Amino acid sequence: MQTKLKIFFLTVVNYPLGGNADKYANAVDGLRTPGPYRVWAKTVCGVLGQPIEDWILTAFESPREMLVSILDSEIRGKHLSTSVSFEDFEKIKRAANRCVPQQEQCGIESGAKIGRVEQMLYPGSSFINFGASNDDLMTISRCMVFNGILGLASYFLMKVLADSQKLKIKRCPYCKLFFPAKDTKRKICYKTTCNNAYHKEDMQSRRDKNPVQYCR
Ligand SMILES: [Zn+2]
Repeated sequence: MQTKLKIFFLTVVNYPLGGNADKYANAVDGLRTPGPYRVWAKTVCGVLGQPIEDWILTAFESPREMLVSILDSEIRGKHLSTSVSFEDFEKIKRAANRCVPQQEQCGIESGAKIGRVEQMLYPGSSFINFGASNDDLMTISRCMVFNGILGLASYFLMKVLADSQKLKIKRCPYCKLFFPAKDTKRKICYKTTCNNAYHKEDMQSRRDKNPVQYCR
């Protein structure tokens, strides 16, 4: 479950929702296996399969960017206050708290327990506001689905902040995407294109530093 949750989280921080609903649907679909997110994931997959209004895509982007900049700060070892205000961080924490699976709250690992995440389709506060002109029930429930996606990503982000060494998420300097590293020293992602780019640059800097040895 942790791996599938990590894949879901990486999808949210790596891609805007606009133009990537299929990527999101795939990542959420992975959470449909027995576990705390089962029922929630089924609902979300249904909504992601339908067209998404432009204003929702826009509203989704700013909290998503907040999560990205917090994760980026954490990886670079910067203080969180450089990437997010206290109020925004509190908002993220509240959203994250609503997504803590029940078994974690009780400290018992049990796949049979249904998590609180299923209730987060009806959160008290939210990232995406419904707005006076969009307060019909359909719009509100759709907004809650997208808030739920951001909430679950916030929950995983809190896990990363609590134990970044264990989760080993890095950001590739070439493709700029976050990726799960197999060891803490890894800096570049595992794609051939990024590794080729690194080796090309590395050889260039060796030639620059030591032309006699490397230019012949
Ligand atoms: Zn890369």
